[in-house]
Amino acid sequence: MPTPAYDETNIFAKILRGELPCHKVYEDDVTLAFMDIMPRADGHVLVLPKSLARNILDADPGILGLLITRVQKIAVAVKSALAADGITILQYNEPAGGQIVFHLHFHVLPRWKGVQLRPHTGVLEKPEVLEGFCQKIAAALKAA
Ligand code: 5GP
Repeated sequence: MPTPAYDETNIFAKILRGELPCHKVYEDDVTLAFMDIMPRADGHVLVLPKSLARNILDADPGILGLLITRVQKIAVAVKSALAADGITILQYNEPAGGQIVFHLHFHVLPRWKGVQLRPHTGVLEKPEVLEGFCQKIAAALKAA
């Protein structure tokens, strides 16, 4: 089956266009990163390319190369800001691969020894809690 075309009505496209809000952690010419509203761990960040790609299957390889450097930068900042023991990076492709929102993104998940991940798209976090983590991570990125 060919990868379906990019659908500009997806929720992350709306966030990228500024039509919907987000708790923004980081932005540059390539990337927007913001807090996941149903976090699987405290400090769960999503890292997106600004250019349009449905997922890793149709992404421009040049953009992917640039994007992974941003994923690394944000992973280092998340680990430091939240004193995490480790980081899990997740990335889903197509419904059968677990993808729910069809704009390419990487999940950056801080991990602590003995703490399990919560379910995927489980419970909506309170905005003030998301904002607290967002500010800590954004400050670590600015200091980097
Ligand atoms: P995936 O497509 O990687 O399987 O999952 C999409 C992710 O986006 C989930 O972790 C979900 O919690 C998150 N998510 C879904 N809708 C929104 C939204 O409107 N804003 C934010 N910040 N995250 C969202």
